[in-house]
Amino acid sequence: SQLESLLSKFEFMKNKKEAQIVTEIGFTLEEVLGIHAKQIVPFFQAKVDLKSNRLIGAESLARRIHPKYGVVSPYYFIPILENSNNIDELTFNMLENSATACRSFHDKGYLISISVNLSLVSLSDPNLSEKITQIVRKSGVENKYIVLEITESAAMTDIANAMENLTRLRMNGFSLSIDDYGTGYSSMQQLTRVPFNELKIDQSFVHDFGDNEALRIVVESSIHMAHKLHVKSVAEGVETQQDWDMLKSMKCDIAQGYFISKPIDLDAFHDFMKIFNIK
Ligand code: C2E
Ligand code: MG
Ligand code: MG
Ligand code: MG
Repeated sequence: SQLESLLSKFEFMKNKKEAQIVTEIGFTLEEVLGIHAKQIVPFFQAKVDLKSNRLIGAESLARRIHPKYGVVSPYYFIPILENSNNIDELTFNMLENSATACRSFHDKGYLISISVNLSLVSLSDPNLSEKITQIVRKSGVENKYIVLEITESAAMTDIANAMENLTRLRMNGFSLSIDDYGTGYSSMQQLTRVPFNELKIDQSFVHDFGDNEALRIVVESSIHMAHKLHVKSVAEGVETQQDWDMLKSMKCDIAQGYFISKPIDLDAFHDFMKIFNIK
């Protein structure tokens, strides 16, 4: 089959699901790996303080603007780039564009922070923290406005280097967030020894959790744990008024989700800030 021949051609794709995804959308693997940094742009999704209703930041989410397929979801390229050791180019490109965007928000008077996703696999590079620091320095944005969301989408092998990088990044003033909390691999247990600033509860727990007692308990306990650890609790996947109200009553700090805004491009986000933010 087409799938089998793809798998034999590209050895790194041990995961059939990835090959499936690629063939579904009609990409060839050459196209995926041939991703030019220029085709990847950040979209921005608002993060809002549940207590004050203020816009406090945005998450930067990668989109590929494909000449033929239009806006392509990161699910079609991130896992493949990670598993083929090609993720760093995207990471640095996203960081640079996101930090530059953050600078443009600040220049307009919107002092919000920008969250950038960092693959766990990148943390094994001993020079990562220095590279990140240099990229952000060039943008002119203060490190404290950059949040690095660590997503555990692949098993981590080099825990020592990861710890070293995270500790340095934290010392350099960046904020660190545990993304998709409650899902992922067990190596995250080791990473909780690093001083994180934010715990991001995975959307699979948040979405429609109001009608499900077990989910409610998981979410409330996660918020409680975050507070005990003196870190901010963030709920992603907030889709309804009911989700919002429930999280507010549970004293969750920050909400992100379609209820507030979908991820939108830079121009649209500038417009969004104008409407949303009470300076
Ligand atoms: P994530 O970091 O957990 O980002 C949240 C995802 O949830 C985003 O999907 C966002 O569009 C989606 N989302 C937000 N609010 C809602 C909601 O209310 N309902 C629902 N159903 N979904 C919501 P997206 O943009 O497709 O990104 C998927 C994942 O790809 C991200 O999950 C992140 O792990 C990864 N990713 C995206 N950009 C980058 C990047 O630049 N670098 C790396 N390493 N990973 C990235
Ligand atoms: Mg994230
Ligand atoms: Mg997340
Ligand atoms: Mg998620």
